[in-house]
Formats: sequence, C-alpha cells, structure tokens
Amino acid sequence: ESILEITDLTKVYPDGTVAVEEVSFDIKRGDFCVLIGPSGCGKSTTLHSIVGRFPITEGSIHLDGVDITDAPTYERDIGLVFQDFQLFPHLSVRENIAYGLDRLDTPAAERDERVSEMLDIMRLADLGDRSPEELSAGQKQRVALARSLVLEPKLLLLDEPLGDMDYKLQKRMERELLRIHRDIDTTFVYVTHDQTQAMRLGDQLIVMNDGKIEHSGPTEEVYNEP
Ligand code: ADP
Ligand code: ADP
Repeated sequence: ESILEITDLTKVYPDGTVAVEEVSFDIKRGDFCVLIGPSGCGKSTTLHSIVGRFPITEGSIHLDGVDITDAPTYERDIGLVFQDFQLFPHLSVRENIAYGLDRLDTPAAERDERVSEMLDIMRLADLGDRSPEELSAGQKQRVALARSLVLEPKLLLLDEPLGDMDYKLQKRMERELLRIHRDIDTTFVYVTHDQTQAMRLGDQLIVMNDGKIEHSGPTEEVYNEP
C-alpha cells in the first residue's frame, strides 16, 4: 500500500536550472527508503518538493491517497529532520519535543504523556530538563527525531542526518534509527550520498543521477543489477 506517490515531478528553479526532471516513484507504508545519489543530483530538491517548500513545476504528489501537490507545508503531515538538527537553544529538551504539540493546542495532559513516551523511546528520559546545547551530537539527533515523531507524521524525511558525525557515532546512530523505525512503525525516507550507509539502512533504494531516477527497488536487487 502506497504512502507516497510522486508522479512526473519536474522542478525548474527561477534561474532556469532543471534540478529534477520527470521523476516518479512510489513508497510503501512502513518502508525504510533511501534516496541516494551524488551531490547536485536533485535529492534536496526532491525532498523540498515533498514537504512543500516551493511550488513544483510539473507533476503531482500524493500522500496516503490525498493529492498534496498544492497543499501548504503545514497541512502535509510530513516530518523533516535536518542535518544540523535546528533545535531551539532557549528551550529545554522536553520543550523542544513539546513545541509542535503546543502549536496544535494539544491538551496539556495528552501533550505531557506523548512527550514522556517519546523521551523513553529515544532513551532521553534523564535529559528532559537539559538545554540542547549541553547534549552530544547523538543525543541532539534523537531530540530532533523525537520532535518530529511526536507529531505522528505519515512520513519522516531525513536529510543526511548523520552527515556531520564521526564514523563510530554514525554506526551507533544507524542502529538507533533502525530500532526506532521498527518500534514506531512509520515510513522513513532517508537522503544520503553515502552508498555503504544506504546499503546498511535501506530496505528500498531510489538511485538518482542528474535530476533523474536511475534505479529503484529493494536494496539487494538494485545493488545486484549489472
Ligand atoms: P543534491 O541535494 O542531490 O545535492 P540539489 O537538489 O541540491 O541536489 O540540486 C540539484 C541541482 O539544482 C544542482 O545543480 C543545484 O546546483 C541546483 N539548485 C539547487 N537549488 C537551487 C536554487 N535555489 N536555484 C537554482 N539552482 C538550484
Ligand atoms: P543542500 O544540498 O542541503 O540543498 P546546498 O549548499 O546545496 O545545500 O544549498 C544551500 C541553499 O542554496 C539551498 O537553499 C539551495 O536551494 C541553494 N542553492 C543550491 N545550489 C544553488 C544554485 N546553483 N543556485 C542558486 N541557489 C542554489
């Protein structure tokens, strides 16, 4: 069952750059999908099209069967985790995670319960009152994930979230991501240019090059193609 369907997506920037050209793909509910390709191939443009950062030039985007091609970002029910986390430094860990629920006027009791549950899942229960600035990179990453996932998005997009970490921490965070994906039962779309990481994480791969899709399918199949 499809959660995300991209059909003939084309994005031309105002300066005439054709960043993505007639790209179509389909992501199934519950997948851990990796969007991979070299720098400049159009990964970020694809991601930003999905979250609605800018109008696309051609094509359509369906989320869970609903046409969101022209929907504003805040109506899309899609979470996004950035490489640099973008946590609020003046708020505690708990307040960072509660932020989106507060903006939706979630009743305090429900908000506190969902935030506490997220703190547990992310193994952050002891750090709720800290400032994000006191945390390690791995802990910040988990707060960023918690802040998105507490809103129960239909889809979580991760934009090179482990890019700035050293190798050991990367490996540890990969294991955490796989665990979280399994425990939360949600759909991940993970963007990277790192092939080995893509193979370790993805059950589905979408390989982009020069604004187009080169291959897509289950990870073993894509890598065993001639
Ligand atoms: P990736 O994320 O794979 O590195 P991008 O989607 O960032 O690729 O970029 C795809 C192409 O579009 C590149 O040639 C890039 O220079 C260009 N591009 C990205 N953003 C803009 C923009 N705002 N205006 C014009 N060209 C852009
Ligand atoms: P990312 O890969 O995360 O998009 P970049 O450093 O490629 O990061 O881009 C940073 C910003 O610059 C983005 O807003 C992107 O749209 C814009 N940008 C990238 N390439 C170009 C370009 N060729 N012309 C104009 N803007 C660009």
